[in-house]
Amino acid sequence: MVSKRHFTGHSLMIGRFQPLHNGHMEVIRKCAAESENLTIGIGSAQYSHEPDNPFTAGERYLMIDEVMRDEGIANYCIVPIEDVNRYSLWVAQVESLSPPFSTVYSNNPLTRRLFKEAGYELRETPLYNREVYSGTVVRRKMVEGDGWRPLVPRKAAEVIDYTDGVGRLREISGRD
Ligand code: ATP
Ligand code: MG
Repeated sequence: MVSKRHFTGHSLMIGRFQPLHNGHMEVIRKCAAESENLTIGIGSAQYSHEPDNPFTAGERYLMIDEVMRDEGIANYCIVPIEDVNRYSLWVAQVESLSPPFSTVYSNNPLTRRLFKEAGYELRETPLYNREVYSGTVVRRKMVEGDGWRPLVPRKAAEVIDYTDGVGRLREISGRD
């Protein structure tokens, strides 16, 4: 096996991006600036059309890609990653889909533990305005029709608009 040291400067960050919001972008900007190349993993890629996972992997891909282009960040790639529902296999799943990397940015204790056991360098990132820069808050505001736009990058809002993301989320969140 090739040593992870060979891929120093190549890093990974994983989120569900349901949807991409300004908190994610603060982290992505910082990680991309510190890295030669940043892989952005789209977690739980198989889910869509659910109240907690309204957007498809492709729609989430497009949100990230459009915003990165808009900001002039080029040293990244995007990889959709489906869940495996077996934590002992999670790192192998990510490794099989991502370009090689040596550093993982995550604050999640389980993610940190799993990648540490596999020999990766772990880095933490600060949380920005977490009371509002949160997928859960953005989705709630979308359903309630209240002020979600200022919480997401403009280009992500465009993707949400032309997929009728808010209409979809409202319908699938409705009770019959
Ligand atoms: P949800 O409420 O749907 O879980 P989320 O805002 O937690 O959404 P995720 O896609 O689950 O977003 O987040 C992936 C990672 O993005 C988190 O583990 C966290 O490290 C980072 N992140 C999310 N929000 C912020 C924020 N406001 N500031 C910094 N990092 C954030
Ligand atoms: Mg989360």
